[in-house]
Order: sequence, then structure tokens, then C-alpha cells
Amino acid sequence: MIKPAIAGGIPIRNKFLVFGQPMVFQEEIKEVLETLRSGWWGTGPKTKLLEKKFCHYKNCRYAVALNSCTAALHLALNVLGIGPDDEVITTPLTFAATANVIIHCGAKPVFADINKKTWNIDPWEIEKKITKKTKAIIPVHLHGRPCQMDQIIKLAKKYKLFIVEDAAHAVEAKYKGKKIGSIGHFTAFSFYATKNMATGEGGMLTTNNKNWAEQARIRSLHGISKDAWKRYSSAGFQAYEVLYPGFKYNMMDLQAAIGIPQLTRLEKNFSLRKKYWQIYQSELANIKQIILPQPEEPQTRHARHLFAILIKPEMLKINRNQFVQALIAENIGSGIHFMALHLQKYYKNTFGYKKGDYPNAEFVSERILSLPLSPQMTVEEVKQVINAVKKIIQYYQR
Ligand SMILES: *Cc1c(COP(=O)(O)O)cnc(C)c1O
Repeated sequence: MIKPAIAGGIPIRNKFLVFGQPMVFQEEIKEVLETLRSGWWGTGPKTKLLEKKFCHYKNCRYAVALNSCTAALHLALNVLGIGPDDEVITTPLTFAATANVIIHCGAKPVFADINKKTWNIDPWEIEKKITKKTKAIIPVHLHGRPCQMDQIIKLAKKYKLFIVEDAAHAVEAKYKGKKIGSIGHFTAFSFYATKNMATGEGGMLTTNNKNWAEQARIRSLHGISKDAWKRYSSAGFQAYEVLYPGFKYNMMDLQAAIGIPQLTRLEKNFSLRKKYWQIYQSELANIKQIILPQPEEPQTRHARHLFAILIKPEMLKINRNQFVQALIAENIGSGIHFMALHLQKYYKNTFGYKKGDYPNAEFVSERILSLPLSPQMTVEEVKQVINAVKKIIQYYQR
């Protein structure tokens, strides 16, 4: 038996494989330099161009470029009028931002458990949590897998609820022929450095409602009247009015300059990640100590943002966190997406959530581990990760 590096063996790699490193090409560098030299760094023509291209890519009517997905989620709830005494339902298996923004609106986050197979929010669990106070649902397309939107839309219609999709992982995703970003009332995307399309920090909010789009735009820049970013441009002095106590959530052209070539490369990168995903699936298929992701629904495209497996601790001598450490010793970075939010200190203490409240989310949360999946990787590196996983499992199996 080969010893894993953590037990004194030789690491699979010499150099550390960083999890989720962004890809940069000459086009991004050129665009950024051009923008730097143009003297227009803030929101401007590049941001407008990115919005236009994103709308085209997404088949949606309006896209508002912002400085994060968190900002996009918050703004969407704000524009929809979510406030104190309201409840918003979301999944406990998500990043903190998804639920934090509900609290920023003064509303209460209510979790609904996930489906144990898809790891996404379970529509039947959502229905159990709906009360007179429920105003919206935030489905999260976890790892890039679209939620069961047909069922969620049915619920939203039946109970008159808004749908704000957290598509931070799902920029390339499609659901039954429709692109994610053209389905719910609002959809929020992330361009954070580790995401499929990256601008460092950045995000996009899409909608098909003209009035909401206009409100989102106004409120994203202090709440001052439309196109206020032009106030210093050659268009000349434009008097503005404060229409709402807005936020500072606008994207700047320096970020959009990185985003424009990234958007062009999106589909190509997606194909590469899909290929790596399939290698992981087939090479890890017969290992009984782990659970692999399920196939997606028919006519649905998983965005392949994260390839996560579940580690069965009952069949190993190490737990998931020790598994992460063992991978680090092999010089391989991995991630945990995510630790169940209802058991995080603030949520536990504030809302009284406890262990056992969301058994499926807890089951996954304790076992989940994301292996590196990036177009930056080579097939060779994917194979190294697979060998490391196999080596660790063989050594620590019960
Ligand atoms: C990354 C992420 C966010 C937040 O995105 P930012 O652009 O960093 O604000 C929200 N939800 C999920 C599920 C994420 O993974």
C-alpha cells in the first residue's frame, strides 16, 4: 500500500495546486491597460458594453452590472420591497451571502432543507415553510446545477412569491431549454475571482422587468437619477436628483474590462470543465467510500462550476476535514461548498436553529468536498487529483 504524504509518503505533486485560480490572457491585460489609460475608471462605456453582451448571452431583457453577487442579491430584495416582518426562504447549504442579504433588508431568513440527491433546495420542503409572511424564495443553483424551477415557479404563483435566483455558480446553466438568468423575477451572478467568469470582485443582476431594472440601476449608484455616471462626461453637466437612499454597488470599467474577454471565453472554458468533470466521474465511479454528483435533469445544463464528492466517514478512518488536510499534504487544494448555514454561530444564536433541524443539509455539509475543477488545469493534473483521492482512500479505508 502506498503511503499518503500526510502519513509520511511522497506527495503526488511537487507544487501546490491552487483551488479556483482565475485565468488571465493577453486580452484582459490589453483591455485593462486601455481602460487605465482612457482615464475613465469608474462605471462607463465598458460596463455598459459588458451589460449588453451579458443580456445577449443570457437571453434576458435587462442586466445591471454590480460590484458583487452579494450586492445583486441585496439590491433585488430591496427593489422587490422586502423588509421587516417579511420572511424569505432559502437553502441552508449555501454561502453566507445568500442569507445575510435577507437580514440586511430587515427580513427573516427561513431555511428549507435540501434534496439529498441533488443537494439543491427541495421544493416540497419550501412549501412546508411558507407562511403569511413569506415574500420570496432564493433558490441557489448549487455548484452550477439548476434547481427544480418548474416546481418553484408553481409555488411562487400559488402563494404570490417572488423568485430571486442565486446563480453565483451557474453562469452557463440552462433549465429545460431556458437560460438561467431569464427565468426568475431576478437572477444574481458572481464574477468573484474563483467563479466561472471572474472580474476580481463583480456581479450581474438580470431581470425581464423594465421598472425593476431601472430601480436596480438607480439604487445601485446612490439612488441618484438615471445615467448619473455620465455627470462628468463630455455629455456635459447633468443635474441629478436623489430619488432613493441608494447603495454604492456599481461595477467600474476596470472590472468590466476584465469581464468582456472572460465572457467571450465562457463557453470554451465550460467545455473544458465538462471534460474534466467526466474524467472525475468515470475514474471515481467504483469507489464505495465516496458519493458522486447525480446526473442533471433532462434538457438541463449543469454549469460545472464545482465538482464535489461526499466522503463516507463511516467507511474511512478519517473524516472530511482530515481528508482536506491529506489532500493539502499531496499539494492539492480543495474546498468545502458549503458548511450548513443554520449551524453557523450567528444563525444558531439569533434564530435558535440546532443540529437536526435540516438533516439532509447536515448530512451533505459533514461529508462534502470540492475537488479542483478549472480550465487552467491539464488532464495530467486532473489525473493527479484522482490518484491522490484513491491513495488516501486506500490507505484509510475501514
Ligand atoms: C460566491 C457566492 C456568492 C457571493 O458572490 P460575491 O460576488 O462574492 O458577492 C453568493 N452565493 C453563492 C452561492 C456563492 O458561491
